[in-house]
Amino acid sequence: MILKNKVAIVTGAGQGIGRGIALALAQEGCSVVVSDLNQDNSNKVVAEIKALGVEALAIKCDVSQKNEVDSLVAQTLEQFNQLDILVNNAGIFPFVPFLNMTEADWDKVLNVNLKSVFLCSQAVAKVIQVGGRIISISSIASFVGFEGLTHYCASKGGINSMIRALALELAPQKITVNAVAPGIIDTPGASQSDQPKTATEAIQKQTIAMVPLARMGQPQDIANAVVFLASEKSSYITGQTIIVDGGWTLR
Ligand code: NAP
Repeated sequence: MILKNKVAIVTGAGQGIGRGIALALAQEGCSVVVSDLNQDNSNKVVAEIKALGVEALAIKCDVSQKNEVDSLVAQTLEQFNQLDILVNNAGIFPFVPFLNMTEADWDKVLNVNLKSVFLCSQAVAKVIQVGGRIISISSIASFVGFEGLTHYCASKGGINSMIRALALELAPQKITVNAVAPGIIDTPGASQSDQPKTATEAIQKQTIAMVPLARMGQPQDIANAVVFLASEKSSYITGQTIIVDGGWTLR
């Protein structure tokens, strides 16, 4: 149990990668605030964590809204009196061809995927324990291009850049700031994309063909990297984006 007596907030933790991260942190003894737009899903994850004998709390929060983020952090402190780990996971990836992309499409993705990392990291950095951890979920889309995702690629590239500067600012408090860049991971969000089902299945087959390790990633693959970055074992790593993609970006 390498995270015993620690307290974490995981955003977008009601399903998919966020749920996998919340469960993996709890399995290491960490109390978890499960935050999502969808409170029913969060409550289910909280029940799964409590079944492990670990404390958990569901808090509804839209990570693109400063007042909701501030309230999330305040409620966490009220309940647990400390905060050690923030995982900025909430994100959206709607496919929109660039020439059809509206200003509202652009703003929505940048607000949910990148402004949220600013809002959550700032609110947490003011109160996090010395030696704390801020971990953000980026994407291989920050390194390679994907048609229909120009806004998404920009948002994730923004995360990789901003964490380098933030890591420098928080280093004096021994707070490390890192990111994990997943490849294509099997989640509800990835399979309910705007693509038709047949297209999604075809994309999955093409995806597996492009992955040297020859399988879709699972939320647990990303959660394993997050647990490492949250632990003492990563205490000399900061400002880095770790790619977890089965080797996709090697080609
Ligand atoms: P997912 O299955 O769609 O889950 C994302 C969760 O975030 C959902 O529960 C969603 O709630 C919530 N959410 C959306 N907007 C939010 C907001 N404004 N405030 C708070 N919560 C919000 O997605 P996923 O595939 O697990 O992705 C999680 C993260 O990994 C994202 O940052 C994504 O960009 C990144 N990622 C995913 C993949 C992949 O292949 N899956 C690859 C690379 C990176 P609702 O369902 O109620 O909207």
